[in-house]
Amino acid sequence: MTEIKQDISLKQYNTFGIDVSASQFAEIKTIEDLVSIPALKTSPRPDILILGGGSNILFVNDFKGIVIKNCLKGIETVKETETEVWIKAASGEIWNELVEYCVSKNYGGIENLSLIPGTVGAAPMQNIGAYGVELKDVFDSLEAVNLKDFDISTFNFEQCRFGYRESIFKHQLKDQFFINSVTIRLHKFPKINSSYGQIHHLLNKEGITNPNIGDISRIVCQIRRSKLPDPAIIGNAGSFFKNPEITEHQYNELKKSYPEMPGYHNDKGIKVPAAWLIESCGWKGRRIGETGTHLEHALVLVNYGHAKGAEIKALASEIIKSVKDKFDIELNTEVNIV
Ligand SMILES: Cc1cc2nc3c(=O)[nH]c(=O)nc-3n(C[C@H](O)[C@H](O)[C@H](O)COP(=O)(O)OP(=O)(O)OC[C@H]3O[C@@H](n4cnc5c(N)ncnc54)[C@H](O)[C@@H]3O)c2cc1C
Repeated sequence: MTEIKQDISLKQYNTFGIDVSASQFAEIKTIEDLVSIPALKTSPRPDILILGGGSNILFVNDFKGIVIKNCLKGIETVKETETEVWIKAASGEIWNELVEYCVSKNYGGIENLSLIPGTVGAAPMQNIGAYGVELKDVFDSLEAVNLKDFDISTFNFEQCRFGYRESIFKHQLKDQFFINSVTIRLHKFPKINSSYGQIHHLLNKEGITNPNIGDISRIVCQIRRSKLPDPAIIGNAGSFFKNPEITEHQYNELKKSYPEMPGYHNDKGIKVPAAWLIESCGWKGRRIGETGTHLEHALVLVNYGHAKGAEIKALASEIIKSVKDKFDIELNTEVNIV
């Protein structure tokens, strides 16, 4: 029988380090543990929050329902050909441990996603991405338990409706499924993706002309460690906002007033770095009480120690307003606000 704890603090379970409580809390190691939680069979049923590493959540209030902490483990090869391999990982596996496992076997495809915090099960939620690669590039399928009737379904690539930091699980199917495993398709003769400027630069600096996926993973870790604040030292959830996508027309109009505004073409128009917009509004490194934007990264909101989720959310709203007022661009949060 799964142990249910009452009224526990979630401070150690979210990388912002926000001290809210959950009315009920259960750690699950198997699907049976999930199914045997009595509260999931009551009517009316309490609100459910599936929690991985808590690295993409801002808690604004105590959670009045049940938090289910995912501890499902296991990595297996489910299929292979001469050139490819399909790896199925349980959703409670730590994402970076899966990356390390694949790199150690020379299975290529996720090395650019090294060191992203969190669990495997949360990776499809927002189609995690970094350094020119997204989960969708290697995604094969996932299995998920319907939280209404506990039926297990398989979702293929199309059904997940991946987009930039998006999937169907963040929208139409929000809070309806527990993702219990993810299968990715990797290459035995990896194609190296070193197109991202900084990776290229560091490879050159080290004199590596023919990098392997281990080199890429190591360099990505090096860049991330030097650039991103460590949540163990200062509470944060990585990029708080998504990079907005605007039309080419709006971009060209804005360029007349802001010739230095960066922008990158994609299939929806022009993606503008949110960090540039926020910095241009004077927010970089500003501290307001216990919260603020990071000194080096305007896009990363931080908890200096005792911030309430509501304070961080209020700061986010102010940033959104300044960017809207100055550029007429709407910023959307990447972090899930609960
Ligand atoms: C320092 C730092 C750097 C980061 N860098 C990046 C980056 O480069 N790229 C990037 O994409 N992200 C980045 N992130 C964000 C974060 O690491 C990812 O979004 C990660 O996938 C979140 O995993 P998690 O297990 O912590 O999810 P959580 O924060 O626990 O959950 C996130 C959401 O997913 C839901 N969820 C979690 N697990 C499941 C499941 N098994 N089934 C159903 N729903 C589930 C939760 O209910 C919640 O809505 C960064 C975060 C930090 C702190």
